[in-house]
Amino acid sequence: MSKKISIVIPVYNEAGNLKIILHAIKKVFESMPYDFSIIFVNDGSQDETLNIIKKLSEENNEVGYISFSRNFGHQNALKAGFDSSNADAVISMDGDMQHSPTVIPELINLWENGNDIVYTIRKDHKELPMLKRTTSNLFYKIMNQLSSIELERGTADFRLLDKKVVNVLRDIKEYDLFWRGMVKWLGFKQISIEYSPAERASGKSKYTIKKMLELALRGITSFSTKPLSIAIYIGFLSSLISILYIPYALVSYFYGHVISGWASIIVTIAFFGGLQLMILGIIGIYLGKLFMQSKNRPHYIVNESKLT
Ligand code: UDP
Ligand code: MG
Repeated sequence: MSKKISIVIPVYNEAGNLKIILHAIKKVFESMPYDFSIIFVNDGSQDETLNIIKKLSEENNEVGYISFSRNFGHQNALKAGFDSSNADAVISMDGDMQHSPTVIPELINLWENGNDIVYTIRKDHKELPMLKRTTSNLFYKIMNQLSSIELERGTADFRLLDKKVVNVLRDIKEYDLFWRGMVKWLGFKQISIEYSPAERASGKSKYTIKKMLELALRGITSFSTKPLSIAIYIGFLSSLISILYIPYALVSYFYGHVISGWASIIVTIAFFGGLQLMILGIIGIYLGKLFMQSKNRPHYIVNESKLT
């Protein structure tokens, strides 16, 4: 019996891309001796995505789907795909053709050679928008500085996972999911390959600046508690500076220089006010994560599904 590979594709308003990606994947598997299935995870799309998926699923028995009750986000959609798979390996990829299906044979080859996780790294591309490139590079720099895991620049949610890895992921109960970091953290035998991102086949990016920022913040705070200790260092530093200020204040007092000092006081108050709010905010983020985690809500809610 041939091995089974399932391909998990989260889609959010990708009506124009579904057919294209299905055909591209089918073509790739034509020349390979594997059973494959595609699981489209419809993440609360508002366009025709679900109807098209249903139609494709009727016409192709390789196509299954999971449809959420609303938008739960890309990372949770991936979780749904992992949860429902019973294949020997799972490949996750975007539904917009930026993760080219032609890379799939290479992923499978490396898996057959004994690797449990084959992940991909995006080659920096001139066509990638400048803003995306610089913000993404900045994110990986901060992430690696702060956390104990080492993430390569441009790691994407385009990877192959062996069945035993997927079994582990299924049991992960962490509320704030950040698969890139999680997969790195898991261990197992990992290998990376580079790929060139293609242009989006149709539509535009679903990752708004806000969603990207959220993902970045989630990544950093899920794998590091270092931001929490920032307060200690800044606190020490400012106390030290204030100690140096004491002799100056005493001397001025005894020699009768009256310090006018309004501007310096206002500036200091404003500066430390801002700093304290910022640090409170950092503590707040971690507290919020604890709060959400303690509620133990599911990562997603399925409205309907059909699995192959
Ligand atoms: N996506 C999703 N839910 C969301 C946002 C995005 O399922 O809330 C899907 C989207 O349809 C695509 C993949 O995640 O298949 C990556 O999104 P996108 O291509 O918009 O991100 P980018 O490539 O611009 O980083
Ligand atoms: Mg994309």
